[in-house]
Amino acid sequence: MKAAILTAPQNVAQRPLTISEVAQPEPGPAHILVKVRACGVCRTDLHIVEGELGPARAGLTPGHQIVGEVVAGATDKLPQGKRVGVSWLGGTDGSCPYCRRGLENLCDSPVFTGYTVDGGFAEYARARADFVFPLPEALDDLQAAPLLCAGIIGFRSLRVAGVEKGERVGLFGFGSSAHLALPVLLSWNCEVFVSTRGASHRQLATSLGATWAGSALDRPPVALDRAITFAPSGDVVVAALASLRKGGIVAINAIHLDRIPEFDYDRLLWGERQIRSVANMTRSDARDFLQIASEINLRPKVTAFPLDQVNQALLAVKNDSIDGAAVILP
Ligand SMILES: [Zn+2]
Ligand SMILES: [Zn+2]
Repeated sequence: MKAAILTAPQNVAQRPLTISEVAQPEPGPAHILVKVRACGVCRTDLHIVEGELGPARAGLTPGHQIVGEVVAGATDKLPQGKRVGVSWLGGTDGSCPYCRRGLENLCDSPVFTGYTVDGGFAEYARARADFVFPLPEALDDLQAAPLLCAGIIGFRSLRVAGVEKGERVGLFGFGSSAHLALPVLLSWNCEVFVSTRGASHRQLATSLGATWAGSALDRPPVALDRAITFAPSGDVVVAALASLRKGGIVAINAIHLDRIPEFDYDRLLWGERQIRSVANMTRSDARDFLQIASEINLRPKVTAFPLDQVNQALLAVKNDSIDGAAVILP
């Protein structure tokens, strides 16, 4: 089969992924093999190929928003030909203190799709049968792919930020994840304020129903109850913090930040404001989000790239040069 292989992490402009002919994986016990129909591109893929997340296995195939159809290892629940989604959390041990507390997103021995095991920038991918999700029928492959990490983890960020119905919520950065969180917030009657670089992202935010859209470090015109940051930038976290009312929460939806700059505790954090990170996802986040996505008829904005343009797709995510999500069609 054809697969995108990472030989050595480097700047994505140097084209770190090469398309190679490799052996098709065997499903093995408790796993299924899917034929990949689409695989979304996430900022985490970028951090993996550029080496910001610590060494990936040599010869890794990234990609963790896989829409695939079961072709081997079928079970009663997952029959041959069934369309399923595979996400970032590819498996847990089920036995560590975090798993036992229902916090499988913090598992001590996790498997991450497209990072600790091969992912979906390939024609076929292997996945643990108990970590795949049935997908809403109404969504085609292209539209379903970005829901699987951008959507699920964006949704988890809203939970971590403690968003309640009718609140004022800031989204700092407006890529794939934020543009999927916005319609969920509107369905909860929240008012949404978007700070993002790039005029086209501001336009998209307004067209999707944001009350206000400003540039990356602009402060929204009202004090926010909650803020979620998506850019891998500590300056943005501080800007978000500066926009909060007393008792408000900033949730950082980023697996990597450049740094956290020094900031004024008395003015920005005192008053029981909180900064929280958002780490990974649980299977119940996935199921709950896919249910809501189906109910509100969530339709991501996507740009498709063929597998041999995977480096260009990553570059587009890095430069914020497309609106919505990039998706690879192998
Ligand atoms: Zn565990
Ligand atoms: Zn991701």
